Amino acid sequence: MNWKINEVRKDFPILDQQVNGERLAYLDNAATMQQSRPVTDAVLHYYQTTHSNVHRGVYTLSNQATDMYEQAREKVAHFINTESSEQIVFTRSTTESLNLVAQGFGDAVVNPGDEIVISVAEHHSNLIPWQQLASRRSAHLKYIELNEDGSFDMDSATRVITKKTKIVAVAHVGNVIGIQNPINKLEQLAHKVNAYLVVDGAQAVSHMAVDVQELNADFYAFSGHKLGAPTGIGVLFGKSNLLAKMNPVQFGGEMISKVTRDVATWKKTPLKFEAGTPNISGAIGLGVAIDYVQKMGLKSIQDYEEKLMQRMLTGIEGISGVTIYGPHNTKKRLGVLSFNIDGVHPHDVATGLDLLGIEVRAGHHCAQPLMQDLGVAATARASIAFYNNMADVDQLIDGVKQVKEFFL
Ligand code: PLP
Repeated sequence: MNWKINEVRKDFPILDQQVNGERLAYLDNAATMQQSRPVTDAVLHYYQTTHSNVHRGVYTLSNQATDMYEQAREKVAHFINTESSEQIVFTRSTTESLNLVAQGFGDAVVNPGDEIVISVAEHHSNLIPWQQLASRRSAHLKYIELNEDGSFDMDSATRVITKKTKIVAVAHVGNVIGIQNPINKLEQLAHKVNAYLVVDGAQAVSHMAVDVQELNADFYAFSGHKLGAPTGIGVLFGKSNLLAKMNPVQFGGEMISKVTRDVATWKKTPLKFEAGTPNISGAIGLGVAIDYVQKMGLKSIQDYEEKLMQRMLTGIEGISGVTIYGPHNTKKRLGVLSFNIDGVHPHDVATGLDLLGIEVRAGHHCAQPLMQDLGVAATARASIAFYNNMADVDQLIDGVKQVKEFFL
């Protein structure tokens, strides 16, 4: 680790405050990460010096804004190791990216009777677009079941991925259990039957290095705000030949090549998917957020976060009457720890923790089929980022003990 946590935390002034009269321990990073000072400075600087519309100006500010926006695209391309920045489409979020693939690509390649395969653990953003696609195209949605520890049951994957499968869409890292899923094995299974592999990277990008060429993913989606960028900017990577096949689903300015009274033609990718004025400042902020994590190094981040997770797991495991969902092995778990205090509603757990300055999420985490499988309505979920420290983790462990004592 070539960085110092106290120095890192100085870049995140929001962390240095009290909530409900207590030291803030922000542990809802899987929902959204905080933005570093370089990110917010860059966005402010853009608005104070360069703000104008992109791609259509013939004047200096617009050209500068366009350059900044396109440089951000280059940074994203480099970050996930694409062959070209033309394979990077800016969207609003992971949700919008996945909906774009399901509608723009799925509608073009899925035919009646075909099958789409996802897992039981998917976030609704990687579930409902496929449910909808299946219903529009009279196709079938099949599920990869889970093992006891929440990992993918690969026998089930082998059974459900068949010659009828057109699309396999899975999370790289789950948002409830935090397991890094075996994308390489799924890639082999999917490509063996000529299905397309879509990977939801929302929970992966801030915790591990991602290389889309190594994964051989056909599409890869993520959100900037899960990586320390502003909200409202997302990414869809697609292989060039597939983006060429994919239809735009939004139409308007910026994305056209020529328009007559009766018909219109589109620009090449990625601009044909970016109708209207894009989130210029968000893209610039994303570029800086990427610079930030790359400077720290994703390997160092992963090593550091593993230590935080180890302490958190050991501490929470040590409290009687607390159920932890997913593996107890930190090597298998990235970022999130979902748990329940037996007999206490998770909303009460989160509210009690909030009174102690500890911000965690409670609910179904947009994964209702998984909750049904786990046999619970909801869980509490603590999630870490590289700027969390051991004091945050200890505050959580102590907080869970206090909440338990209060309610039971
Ligand atoms: N997929 C996963 C695994 C997630 O965790 C989330 C957000 O929590 C999403 C998709 C949706 O992300 P967004 O709301 O930024 O579109």
